[in-house]
Amino acid sequence: MSIPQTGLTGEFARLVVWLALLCAIFLPLERLASVRPQRVLRREFATDLVWYFVNGLVAGLILGVPVAALATWSRKLMPSGFLEWTGNLPIWVRVVAGFVVGDLGYYLYHRICHHVPWLWRFHAVHHSAQDMDFLVNTRAHPLDLVAGRLAGLVPLYLLGLAGPVGAKGTWVPIIIGLFGNFWGFFIHSNLRVRLGPIEWLLSTPSFHHWHHTQRGPINRNFAAMVPGLDRLFGTHHNPPGQWPDSYGIEESMPDDVGGQLLDPFGSRKRTNAEPSTAS
Ligand SMILES: [Zn+2]
Ligand SMILES: [Zn+2]
Repeated sequence: MSIPQTGLTGEFARLVVWLALLCAIFLPLERLASVRPQRVLRREFATDLVWYFVNGLVAGLILGVPVAALATWSRKLMPSGFLEWTGNLPIWVRVVAGFVVGDLGYYLYHRICHHVPWLWRFHAVHHSAQDMDFLVNTRAHPLDLVAGRLAGLVPLYLLGLAGPVGAKGTWVPIIIGLFGNFWGFFIHSNLRVRLGPIEWLLSTPSFHHWHHTQRGPINRNFAAMVPGLDRLFGTHHNPPGQWPDSYGIEESMPDDVGGQLLDPFGSRKRTNAEPSTAS
C-alpha cells in the first residue's frame, strides 16, 4: 500500500508542528516540576524521537483499513434501531460514554498483553524505557500500537458511538482521539503533579508512572484515561506522594528502533513476573 507523496509530506509536517507544540508545553514544565531531574537529551531520547515519527506515519497508514472495516461491520452486526438511538444521543453523552467504553476496550487488551507471553514480547518495547518523559508515549511496537487503538475503537463502533451513523457520529472518535493522544503525552511526562479529586476521574503522571515501575508492584494501572476501571477490577495502585524508584523491564532490550522493531520475533525469552525484590 502506498500513499501519495504530498500526503506523506503533509503528515510529516503535521507531526513536526504537533511535536513543536508538545515541546513548548512539556519541556518547560518538566524543568519546573520534575519527578526526577534529567537532561532533555536523556538516554534513548533519539530512539523515542524516531518512534514518534515512525508511529505517527505508520500507525495512521495501517489503521485506516481495519477502522473502515470496523465501521462497516458494526452496522451489519448491530441492530440498526440501537445504532440510530445511540447515534442520536447528545454529543456530550456520546463523548463521555465513548471515553469510558473505549478505555474499557483498551484496558482489557492492555491487561491481556501483560499476561500473554507472545503479546508481552510486543508490549515490552513500550515498557523498556528507563527514563520517563512525555516522549516515552511514542515508544511502542507499531503492531502493539495499532492493536491497542483498535481495542479502544471496537466498543465505540459496536455501540454506535462513532462511525457513519449520521454525520455527527464521526466527531466522537476525533474528539476522543485528540484528547486521548494529548493525555498520553501528559501521563508519561516527567512532571510531579497530583490533581486531587480529579485523579478519581482521569489518569495522571503518577498513575501511569506506577504502570512503568520496574521494582513492583507491577501489572497495575492498565487504563489509559479512566482510572476508575482499575479501581473496579482491583488493579489500581497510586499511593499519595509516592513515585516509583526505577522504570523499565528486567531483561535487556535493543536501544535502537530497528532492534526494538525486530525484538518480538527473536529468540530472547521474556517474562513479566513480579520481581522478587518487590517492595
Ligand atoms: Zn503496559
Ligand atoms: Zn506508558
